Amino acid sequence: MFEIKKRHHRPAGIILALAMLVSVAACQPAPKSQTSARIPEMNSLDDPCSENLQNISGALWNYYRANHQFPTQLGDLRPYALGSAPLDFICPISHKSYLYYPTGLTCPDQQNQNMLFPQGMVRPDADQEIIACDPAPSHDCSRWCLFMSPIRPGSAMTTQVLLIPELAFRNYHPSVQ
Ligand SMILES: [Zn+2]
Repeated sequence: MFEIKKRHHRPAGIILALAMLVSVAACQPAPKSQTSARIPEMNSLDDPCSENLQNISGALWNYYRANHQFPTQLGDLRPYALGSAPLDFICPISHKSYLYYPTGLTCPDQQNQNMLFPQGMVRPDADQEIIACDPAPSHDCSRWCLFMSPIRPGSAMTTQVLLIPELAFRNYHPSVQ
């Protein structure tokens, strides 16, 4: 007889939620001179919101492999989760559903993006598009975003979950199809 060990997650969201309460209330576009004060370790992949988007990313890959297209809504991904844990489509801080852009959000003006990313914060590649993201800048005036590189024939789907300052996020717009 053997037993299956489950991985238990501590509800880290509670601690984060308390820490974020003040900053969410005061979340306004920061003057450019203050953007360098952001915390580099906010790109940590241990964040529960980032983890949700990474799981969604895995399910998207799985879905695309089976259907050769993206779902019309995130909920369609439920049967495609890579692990045994159910997918969570809600940000643990804002308690709102993630936004989903099947055709992607792009950032045509890359020049202005440079100054909006504080030192130490990972910048997405210029051609990467936002597929899903936080519905609000609930993480210290930033949003977790699921980025995807354009899919090219014969190449693997490449995704990345990054924390994006709100001012930089606002430069992303729906792709022109
Ligand atoms: Zn979030």
